[in-house]
Amino acid sequence: MAGRLVIVGAGQAGFALAAKLRALKDERPITILGAEDVIPYQRPPLSKKYLLGEMDFERLTFRPQTWFAENDVDLRMSAYVEEIHRDARHVRMQDGSTLDYETLALATGSTPRTLPAAVGGDLDGVYTVRDKRDADQLAGEMRPGRRLLIIGGGYIGLEAAAVARHLGLEVTLIEMADRILQRVAAPETSDIMRAIHQQHGVVVREQTGLRRLVGDEGKVKAAELSDGSVIDVDFVIVGIGVNPNDRLAQHCGLDVANGIVVDAFARTSDPAILAMGDCAMLPWNGTRIRLESVQNAVDQAEAAAAVLAGGTQPYEPKPWFWSDQYDVKLQIAGFNLGYDETLLRPGSREGSASVWYFREGQLIAVDAVNDAKAYVAGKKLLEMGRTPDRASLSDPATDLKQLLS
Ligand SMILES: Cc1cc2nc3c(=O)[nH]c(=O)nc-3n(C[C@H](O)[C@H](O)[C@H](O)COP(=O)(O)OP(=O)(O)OC[C@H]3O[C@@H](n4cnc5c(N)ncnc54)[C@H](O)[C@@H]3O)c2cc1C
Repeated sequence: MAGRLVIVGAGQAGFALAAKLRALKDERPITILGAEDVIPYQRPPLSKKYLLGEMDFERLTFRPQTWFAENDVDLRMSAYVEEIHRDARHVRMQDGSTLDYETLALATGSTPRTLPAAVGGDLDGVYTVRDKRDADQLAGEMRPGRRLLIIGGGYIGLEAAAVARHLGLEVTLIEMADRILQRVAAPETSDIMRAIHQQHGVVVREQTGLRRLVGDEGKVKAAELSDGSVIDVDFVIVGIGVNPNDRLAQHCGLDVANGIVVDAFARTSDPAILAMGDCAMLPWNGTRIRLESVQNAVDQAEAAAAVLAGGTQPYEPKPWFWSDQYDVKLQIAGFNLGYDETLLRPGSREGSASVWYFREGQLIAVDAVNDAKAYVAGKKLLEMGRTPDRASLSDPATDLKQLLS
């Protein structure tokens, strides 16, 4: 039997790695070391149903606590790993204790970027959303009539805006770039999502940055924006992206470049150490990317488990992502990196539409807004490596199933 696998990080990828190994009947000893004080859980609802108060913590968890003992997985919570000693093959915990490994898996996730203290980032009432504790604190602030400023028009900011409007708060969202979702989507998708938020009463201010937050006795009370205007706020959510948790890897000399560099088998520059999920920088179509999604965390971890259990299949990301805002489901298949052409297809019912991305004539991704048919067809076409005829695609009368035949 193989020696101990130590997994650092008890999140989506860390749990998926352990669960898949056990599903594959791999019996090696497994220890999961997680910095948080709760058992592994999924994060997406933290900015959706959990924040809204429509989902309790039991439904967030991947498995009940009993699963870990039943599957002989040694889960240690509040166990923050400080250091990796590659020569000795052990990790050192915050309390000074060490744990030996034969194989080490880094599934440490990412950390939200914060505002510097110089612009008020350290004031009370300024939040990021990454873990259960953040969401619990935020939930306490979400009361009708309160004034919320959201900094950043990415998915987290937009989802939080939708929750806050649902709960009757006054919401202003500022985005420094020309448009919301600029980093991840085409202008057509930004236009659709902006219109939805405006219809729901969110004040969306693009090309508007933050000059500074103004506090009163250590608590945020106003925000001075880049255009010189000042707005009163009760609390602030900062959603300006994340940084990979690659410090441990960097300190022990692994290759790190905006994430822990891995190959298609999740191996780092030390063959005894794997990395997966948000913290990993992986090979993709001749370049390297980091993917911050549930799909990648699970698929990459499961592919790594299969290799540990004797398989030889490399991991090929097949990206998909979703975001829920109000009654809108945005589903994304593929990866639009480097797109040079887009096509907007109206959906068959009101409020539904899809945006199709092409690079050098090839279909590379689809954003579907309340349009499950477009999402499913787009995903299948991408899997088949096929590019539909533009004229048929842009004609709303075309049955998308026809494009698959
Ligand atoms: C609010 C929110 C909403 C999201 N919504 C979506 C969505 O709709 N769709 C989607 O696809 N994705 C979504 N995501 C992204 C998705 O949740 C992540 O991509 C996924 O959780 C990544 O899994 P991971 O295992 O890499 O990291 P995580 O799940 O973040 O787990 C990493 C764990 O490692 C722990 N850790 C870090 N360092 C150490 C250390 N030194 N020692 C011990 N433990 C450590 C952390 O505390 C954490 O518990 C969302 C994320 C957030 C925060």
